[in-house]
Amino acid sequence: MVKFTQDQVDELNLKIKTTDEALRWVSDNLHPKVAKASSFGAEDAVVIDIMLKINPKFRFFTLDTGRLPQETYDIMDILRKKYNISIEVLFPDTNEVEKMVLEKGMNLFYDSVENRKLCCEIRKVNPMNRMLNTLDGWITGLRRDQTKVREEVAMFQIDHGHGGILKINPIIDWTWDQIQEYIKKNNLPYNSLLDKGYPSIGCEPCTRAIKPSEDLRAGRWWWEQGEHKECGLHIERKNTD
Ligand code: SF4
Repeated sequence: MVKFTQDQVDELNLKIKTTDEALRWVSDNLHPKVAKASSFGAEDAVVIDIMLKINPKFRFFTLDTGRLPQETYDIMDILRKKYNISIEVLFPDTNEVEKMVLEKGMNLFYDSVENRKLCCEIRKVNPMNRMLNTLDGWITGLRRDQTKVREEVAMFQIDHGHGGILKINPIIDWTWDQIQEYIKKNNLPYNSLLDKGYPSIGCEPCTRAIKPSEDLRAGRWWWEQGEHKECGLHIERKNTD
């Protein structure tokens, strides 16, 4: 496994400034032990397109929680056919899901933050960990202006929560307007929920459309007040190595 020191990562952040440069470096230094995590929102459409212009063999994976909207499955197949790519689909552990819904019901996430986090852990975080254990790096579609938690995120990071592999956020500086412009200019297919008021797309029961004045991630877990709008995949943990 390739591991990077904080000094090396700091140097990368100083040296590499653009999305293209970052993805070229990833292709040259980490492929094939690197993959893009995708939930098939607008940002993912952009990153996937840029990645494939740089390396048609780049890898992509997604987490099928079992609760995704049909529109997300539709765009997965559209992208698969358009680019002739494979998408690695990770599923949650059947026994864990069965135990959870037996004890807490199908829609447990509405009952408490604790239940919602349990559901995200079983349906998202655990399958994600399984995938990341096999990689030296993973690529995200994070942008700095999405949430408070993401404001401090750099383009290259050591992911201490996932064995110290590299986390690459190639569009971290992009604005929402830039994302929309890139999609239009390049005539990219995108998740049809975007046009229905969903700038951020997650599981069907936990995501709703937003009003024009609302925060871009306000539709995620909309019933929760004052909680971080995160599922646990991008929470930074301090280095405890
Ligand atoms: S977003 Fe909702 S349905 Fe999806 S894993 Fe989290 S709590 Fe469960």
